Amino acid sequence: MKTPVADYLAHVLKQCKQNDQGALADYIPELASADPNKLALALSTIDGTSYATGDKDTEFTIQSMSKPFAYALALKHLGLESVLKKVGVEPSGEAFNQISLDAKNKIPKNPMINSGAITTHSLIHAEAGADRAETLRVFLSELAGRELEFDEQVYRSELETAFRNLSIGYMLRTVGVLDEDPVAIVHGYIKQCAIKVTVKDLAQMAGVLANGGVQAKTGKRLLSRVVVRQVLSVMMTCGMYDAAGDWLTTVGIPAKSGVAGGIIGVLPGQIGIAVFSPKLDEHGNSVRGIEIMERLSNDMGLHLMEGTPSAQTIVQRRYVVAETDGNNQTVVYELRGVLQFTESEMLLRILEDEPEGDTRIILDLTNISLLHDVGARMLFEGVNRLIEDGHTAVILDAEGILTEAQCKGRKTSVVTEPLDRYLEKQLKI
Ligand code: GLN
Repeated sequence: MKTPVADYLAHVLKQCKQNDQGALADYIPELASADPNKLALALSTIDGTSYATGDKDTEFTIQSMSKPFAYALALKHLGLESVLKKVGVEPSGEAFNQISLDAKNKIPKNPMINSGAITTHSLIHAEAGADRAETLRVFLSELAGRELEFDEQVYRSELETAFRNLSIGYMLRTVGVLDEDPVAIVHGYIKQCAIKVTVKDLAQMAGVLANGGVQAKTGKRLLSRVVVRQVLSVMMTCGMYDAAGDWLTTVGIPAKSGVAGGIIGVLPGQIGIAVFSPKLDEHGNSVRGIEIMERLSNDMGLHLMEGTPSAQTIVQRRYVVAETDGNNQTVVYELRGVLQFTESEMLLRILEDEPEGDTRIILDLTNISLLHDVGARMLFEGVNRLIEDGHTAVILDAEGILTEAQCKGRKTSVVTEPLDRYLEKQLKI
């Protein structure tokens, strides 16, 4: 059997190809000569599987889709508190290149508009000898899983007409948000926008954000969960500039667009999506890109506000082990999926039904894919209460999903060997 997902994506692309509205960005001369017919779509799941269709190998410049990743790098090096002193998190409701500051704090309103992105660029920590755009290029290459390059032509072309971004740079220097030469920073920012990518690269990058900061193919954690949460929140509220509210209600996926015609979308815990089609609407967002994202969101039920009920599936199986341990019964709760608040609440409610007594209860985490801190706390609390009721209760963590911090001081309730070996020993089977 061949999965129909690839065919479905090709079908969506074909239908949206008919839409010929919009115009190429022409304030960057080189972008005005792009092929307006190019169209591509890629999707990456959190286990690293990718699908791509259309002009999937065509390279184009990342432009403003670099902004969330530059923000992530700044957060990674400086921490949230320091970054918030320089760039806010409020949607501006203004065009991406508005020369503006937050009226009260006198800092850029958010990192997705140019004033915030130029400031964020200045916060990237570059290794000695490397420039900030280069630091970002190296980071994006790691996210994409291949070596990315700059498009020198687009870079030089934008430099020639960068009057507006330079005005923003001088304005930021005047109010003290920038404390270095604004021209060098604006040039660096423009270079960051000129990194060449394909939709496949972008879907991989978006996939890392969807996967909580871990690049699924290499298994390497590239960003912390806290940083990813911050970046996605800002993408959700500010990523589509003055169309952000419309986007949130119709598509409902944190996203970021770029003037070369790309859009990335990230559905936390599920998928990363990337589309490419160069003709833009009046907000600077790809016309066909928006249509494709709307289609995908509706057809596949991806709107974030629809939620995904997962609590009901937390207990995969409850069974009594046949061999007895003296007069005691041994009961195994085979858990699966993600253990967050709602799942833990349901699990503890199910455990409430265990009658008081001296049953040996094993909570088996082998099939748990993600264990949040709140899940761990509630799990240990459940074990304590079962013990208070007279049971013997343990958490079986054969795959080592509990972190050191999560089981600090509670190691005695944790078994780290496989279930059969543990049962053999305990029950002397
Ligand atoms: N380099 C572009 C600029 O600064 C990026 C804008 C965008 O993609 N929206 O104007």
